[in-house]
Amino acid sequence: MITYDVAIIGAGTAGCFVAQTLSQQGHSVVIVEKSRGVGGRCSRRSVDPQGSVDLGAAGFRLQHPSLTEEVQHWHQSGWLAQWHHSLANFEQPLQHQGSELYCGVPSMNRWHRHLCQDATLITGQQVVQFDRQENHWQLQDKSGQTIVRAHWLIITAPARQTLALHDWPQDWQQWLEQSSQATQAQWVCAIELEQANPQLADRYTGQDPVLASAVRDSAKPGRDSSHERWVLQAQPEWTLERLDSQPDSAGEQLLQRFCATLKAKGNARVLSTHRWLLAQHPLPGLESRYLLDRKQQIGLCGDWLATDPELDGIESALLSAQALTNALLDGCKL
Ligand SMILES: Cc1cc2nc3c(=O)[nH]c(=O)nc-3n(C[C@H](O)[C@H](O)[C@H](O)COP(=O)(O)OP(=O)(O)OC[C@H]3O[C@@H](n4cnc5c(N)ncnc54)[C@H](O)[C@@H]3O)c2cc1C
Repeated sequence: MITYDVAIIGAGTAGCFVAQTLSQQGHSVVIVEKSRGVGGRCSRRSVDPQGSVDLGAAGFRLQHPSLTEEVQHWHQSGWLAQWHHSLANFEQPLQHQGSELYCGVPSMNRWHRHLCQDATLITGQQVVQFDRQENHWQLQDKSGQTIVRAHWLIITAPARQTLALHDWPQDWQQWLEQSSQATQAQWVCAIELEQANPQLADRYTGQDPVLASAVRDSAKPGRDSSHERWVLQAQPEWTLERLDSQPDSAGEQLLQRFCATLKAKGNARVLSTHRWLLAQHPLPGLESRYLLDRKQQIGLCGDWLATDPELDGIESALLSAQALTNALLDGCKL
């Protein structure tokens, strides 16, 4: 079995960005991901009878200058597109204004596939434990089999999943526990409207008690626009009260609220409903945006370490990954 320079747990935004940067610097990188595909909370879900929708993040704003060069590069490479669209509040649905988001094309997670193209990717394998041998880390699955070996280990799983993986030093443990406790769940559903509703804005946010946002997925760049498909995200508080509801029931309630609030025309149906248990990490992140133990050769990054009320989750994940890789490339012998 070969020993990689770096093993990354998690093929979400942070994991794939770390993989891209370190691979480009000539390091051998392996990513181990428990799901079947890449993207993490930027995943795409197939829906009947055909097609798919972004059931996680819809896109992100570019606000932090240290990401400008990378995002422009991804844009020029055709991995991201700018979505110029109309935005409104649930409270004043008729007042539309122009807005922009960067979106992966033709789906959010296709961008992640490009990001990790130079790394070895192992999907469908959950790491349940790891331990330090003389000069490398050994990652194991639930039957105790070694999945990979690497000199450095980077974990990009959400706080609660990271907490469960290891016996952490006291200060890391404390931070992981606080962040895990604050983690919020979110019900999300994809719906299809029987007829086009051009009078609606493409995206809604605001203070609705049920809906956190509604996004016209079929209007995003590179999507199939022949169907009128929306993704509805529930408020975390509303989700908490219905955490154990059946998906059909949660999806139907979100659909009813959308139609009533925005007065959508024509029949509508739910295509798919999903409960994200570890959706949002509202606690402010660390100033460093990552945790790193140079002696043990292990680091943590991800959105939860860089949460900032001014930034979107994807931008937080990218900033956290960028800060950690800068630290690794500056003075760590990979
Ligand atoms: C419904 C929803 C809507 C959102 N909307 C937006 C939006 O519009 N804009 C925005 O900017 N952000 C949005 N966000 C937030 C955004 O999706 C996240 O901030 C971002 O994707 C986090 O990236 P990450 O790499 O830190 O974590 P993740 O994407 O969670 O990646 C972690 C990965 O680690 C894997 N993993 C975990 N444990 C293990 C293990 N033991 N072994 C192997 N693999 C493991 C997971 O499967 C996952 O793929 C939204 C989130 C949700 C849930």
